[in-house]
Amino acid sequence: MIPTSGYYHLANVRVHRSLTPGFIATFDTDGFALADIVVADGKISAIAAHKKSKAPADAIDLAGRIILPCFVDCHTHIDKGHIWPRKPNPDGTFMGALNATGADRAARWSAEDVAKRMDFSLRSAYAHGTKALRTHLDSVPPQEEISWPVFETMRETWRGRIELQAACLLGIEGVRDTKWFEKLAKRVAAAKGVLGVVTYMVPDLEELLDKVFSEAIKHGLDLDFHADETDDVAAISLKKIAEAALWSGFEGNILVGHCCSLARQPDLDVLDTLDKVAKAGLAVVSLPMCNLYLQDRRGDLTTPRWRGVTLLHEMKARGIPVAVASDNTRDPFYAYGDLDMLEVYRMATRILHFDHPVGDWPQAVATTPAKVMRLDGIGTLAAGGSADFIIFKGRGWTELLSRPESDRIVVRDGKAIDRQLPDYAELDELMVD
Ligand SMILES: [Zn+2]
Repeated sequence: MIPTSGYYHLANVRVHRSLTPGFIATFDTDGFALADIVVADGKISAIAAHKKSKAPADAIDLAGRIILPCFVDCHTHIDKGHIWPRKPNPDGTFMGALNATGADRAARWSAEDVAKRMDFSLRSAYAHGTKALRTHLDSVPPQEEISWPVFETMRETWRGRIELQAACLLGIEGVRDTKWFEKLAKRVAAAKGVLGVVTYMVPDLEELLDKVFSEAIKHGLDLDFHADETDDVAAISLKKIAEAALWSGFEGNILVGHCCSLARQPDLDVLDTLDKVAKAGLAVVSLPMCNLYLQDRRGDLTTPRWRGVTLLHEMKARGIPVAVASDNTRDPFYAYGDLDMLEVYRMATRILHFDHPVGDWPQAVATTPAKVMRLDGIGTLAAGGSADFIIFKGRGWTELLSRPESDRIVVRDGKAIDRQLPDYAELDELMVD
């Protein structure tokens, strides 16, 4: 349907107000307007309000189908991805995930194993329409020396298809070994990565955060935290991160993931934390599918009673940049998933109520994570920008979010890509003992 010639005219497409800056039109109550898009030499040369009389004779009439910019997935773990068949989570709990993954990492994460699983994940993400992706890399010794070179190679291999970023991942206690942590920060800086840790309530949390911020400042690194992935109301490391950002005068970007416990805390405490998060300029990413899977799992014969996600609406109302992302895929932290950001958005709509009104929530899988990742211009449809977009069958939110849209068309640099998903059988050789 999409010509391979460099120039074509897409008529009668449905675009969303929140993702088309600079496009002036009358939008309906769902935020949509019909548009005509001209593509020339891999770029969008114009977006105009749809006028049947103005379309050239060879225009491709898309009959009101939705077009969204390619997705940005700002929180994943493609170094862990797809180990499930050889290392399942024994009971579906967070501790079960941590222990199973740790054992698998120590036993099996050679450079070849990590590279093959990462490439499988990236092919899936690309086929679903993702253009930029940040992964965390388990960086507990000696894994950092194995995974970071793999990441650097993978980033080069994928350049132009997926903008790949990485953040190191270790429990905050790992920072106590200051010499080793300084070495890690240097390694991350050499790879142009992001400094990341997992925070929870250890007695010396403030001191350790101080060290994390000072290393980030020293090397000019952005920060990416996993915080408070628990229902324990005493978990307030999000607030501690905001306080550390404020008193350190940190000027880089800070992304904080999870923040589950915030949804369980008393209103006054929540307000205090959100004030600080907003003031410190933190961005927050919720991982709705993983949270739904791991949180509130209390054992046999118990039904979960909360959704596990953090307070995205309250955050957005205060101007805090908020995103949703994939997190884990087919590993002990989440048994499912395929790095399909349409699935993430569909699940987020249901779990987090991204509807009534939809407003500008679509930015949470596109523009907002792009800004956090310093990829300005990605995650929008605009004249002058790359022709990187996804053409769906759906003509409204209820059509778009009710079916998997497996037959979507992904256009990159103006051309439809081959959307073949990798076959799971490719991974079989990595799953045998
Ligand atoms: Zn994560």
